[in-house]
Amino acid sequence: MTTHRTRMLIIGSGPAGYSAAIYGARAGMEPIVVQGLQPGGQLTITTDVENYPGFADVIQGPWLMEQMQAQAEHVGTRMMWDTIVEVDLEGGSPFRAIGDSGDEYVGDVLVIATGAQAKWLGVPGEQELGGKGVSACATCDGFFYRGKKVAVIGGGNTAVEEALYLTNHSDDVTLIHRRDELRSEKILQERLFKSDKISTLWNKTVERFVAGENGALAKLELVDTVTGEKSELEVDGAFVAIGHAPATELFKGKLPMDDSGYLLVEPGTPKTAIPGVFACGDVMDHTYRQAVTAAGTGCMAALDAERFLATLEFAEKEAAE
Ligand code: FAD
Ligand code: NAP
Repeated sequence: MTTHRTRMLIIGSGPAGYSAAIYGARAGMEPIVVQGLQPGGQLTITTDVENYPGFADVIQGPWLMEQMQAQAEHVGTRMMWDTIVEVDLEGGSPFRAIGDSGDEYVGDVLVIATGAQAKWLGVPGEQELGGKGVSACATCDGFFYRGKKVAVIGGGNTAVEEALYLTNHSDDVTLIHRRDELRSEKILQERLFKSDKISTLWNKTVERFVAGENGALAKLELVDTVTGEKSELEVDGAFVAIGHAPATELFKGKLPMDDSGYLLVEPGTPKTAIPGVFACGDVMDHTYRQAVTAAGTGCMAALDAERFLATLEFAEKEAAE
């Protein structure tokens, strides 16, 4: 077992983790990023990214994340290809984490940037047609369905917001829900029912996503949850919006979370309940969930980490004198 010591330990290598690393390295904190099972994070499983500022042309998600990693390394970040399986936050700074490799990581500050993953239905065709008509992010991919026929699956706030958002691009949006009542807030429901671009299919689940001759999504096979009757819906795009799961298993019982498992932070900051432990990106943000917001909160975490360390080091110096 090797022990890796750093002033700034970052768990996660998406836009939040890499941005924290870029700022942290430039502030002299010599960060270590433990990358996890998905180096580069969620954007590595998408293709076109059109809304990350700074690029007039369409860029590719995996390329963007390679660039972020290279930038973080260039300014002095150490990348570790490991997955954290245990953290020890008791007793405050320094914080300890154990990797799947058996290695130990010790950081004077800890930045949690483990992200969140969209939940999927787990039915045939869904994964195969990912990026070819099936998506879990209307804000990211809605633009590609301009003037086309789209469906949203789910009945919570996310599904209703995605359906409303898609009316910016499409006049033919169908919301498919497994019950006959939405769980989303009433105000969103009112907006949904008022829209003449959105129709609803109640008591239906998707049994299969079916490709057309061009290999892209062409239709959904549906089943009625009450009668069992089968039907089909022709669509060009389908957005699965049945919730997200933040990657916070490691922190259960160690840091406060909301009912959905997102880490709670002091409003408007990345500060968790433990001084010196910061959370940024999708792991603490169930509302925006964008690469640019993840990068922004990663920057905030590094700036607050730097201030925390400066205060800590000043106090230690005072005590020593
Ligand atoms: P993530 O990108 O989720 O990264 C989390 C990181 O944590 C990963 O590197 C993972 O390996 C690591 N990790 C997790 N657990 C551990 C552990 N135990 N130990 C070590 N590491 C761990 N946003 C946009 O702005 N524009 C888009 O066009 C866009 N398109 C998208 C397309 C798809 C298909 C998806 C799924 C998302 C898309 N998004 C888009 C959303 C965007 O990808 C996320 O908002 C963003 O990636 C969140 O960044 P993050 O750094 O918080 O976390
Ligand atoms: P959610 O509230 O958990 O809703 C998930 C929806 O998907 C539910 O309607 C659920 O159906 C349905 N569903 C779940 N599994 C399914 C499956 N296997 N097949 C078919 N349908 C399935 O998730 P969310 O909408 O992503 O919201 C998560 C949290 O973020 C909530 O607390 C929400 O309020 C919050 N949020 C807030 C805002 C906002 O404030 N503007 C925006 C987005 C999200 P049932 O209803 O039958 O269970």
